[in-house]
Amino acid sequence: MNISQALPAIGIDLGGTKTESILLSVDDTVLFRERKPTPRHDGYEAIVNSVVEMINHAASRLSTDAPYTVGIGIPGSVDEKTGFVRNANSTCLIGHPLKADIERLLSRPVKVRNDADCFTLAECRAGAGEGGNLVFGVIMGTGCGGGLSIDGVVREGPHRIAGEWGHYSVDPQGAPCYCGNQGCVETLISGSGVEAAFFREYGQNISMDAIVSHARTGEPRCLKTFNRFLDDFGRCLGGLISILDPDVVVLGGGLSNIDEIYSEGIERVKNYVFHDHLRTPILKNRLGDSAGVFGAAWIGQGGQVL
Ligand SMILES: [Zn+2]
Repeated sequence: MNISQALPAIGIDLGGTKTESILLSVDDTVLFRERKPTPRHDGYEAIVNSVVEMINHAASRLSTDAPYTVGIGIPGSVDEKTGFVRNANSTCLIGHPLKADIERLLSRPVKVRNDADCFTLAECRAGAGEGGNLVFGVIMGTGCGGGLSIDGVVREGPHRIAGEWGHYSVDPQGAPCYCGNQGCVETLISGSGVEAAFFREYGQNISMDAIVSHARTGEPRCLKTFNRFLDDFGRCLGGLISILDPDVVVLGGGLSNIDEIYSEGIERVKNYVFHDHLRTPILKNRLGDSAGVFGAAWIGQGGQVL
């Protein structure tokens, strides 16, 4: 896409607990921004109506009949055959034609993409992945996802799962995953996966944040769990780098704020990657929480790094 052809862009980051909207001018100036709780307990229709209302609210900042694009990032993907949402953490979206329903209510086309794709595009275009030809964007939060940008285009793939390394089974003896496999990356290095492992081992519910902070004070059970997490991070990311050999890996999601990932975690990656000298930069995101909504707006414009 040539920037001179770009239109104002509305982006929606539809999260499990909050929904954010943004309106960007053709030169990416933020004209409007809004954040609301996602009405996740009120069912699918309430979520659709809330998204449409936020899009209309943002569009009202433009002159009447001004053209604009709409991109929506969701915690899942749209099935290429049925048009129904699949693999969504927000389970009430699953099995619904979200894109078609929003397009019908708006009377305009919208693009809907996985939120990890939106994150990856945003970090490639204006964040830590800038300048990389092959960039892998990692989301490590409650779950574990990813996106892949090749030469400035975030790849979708025939199944629309490009970059979804979270459900790569690395341990056949590992914990069962909701996807039906065992020992998926997500069971090892996501917040929910580490918390579940702690519960299986010690019969105690404790948050990932607490595991990390207690590990830092030397509490033996948390230290063991945290060490295993760092080693699993090394194994999962080392394997990924051996396959893709990306120019840069950008980490996002809540767990990307754990400082030890960028020191000890990278040391563990070196143990697993198929090369004696790891040169791949493994970087923290630069856009923070904003990556999702900017990426969604840019996905709506065409999904490319300019
Ligand atoms: Zn899985």
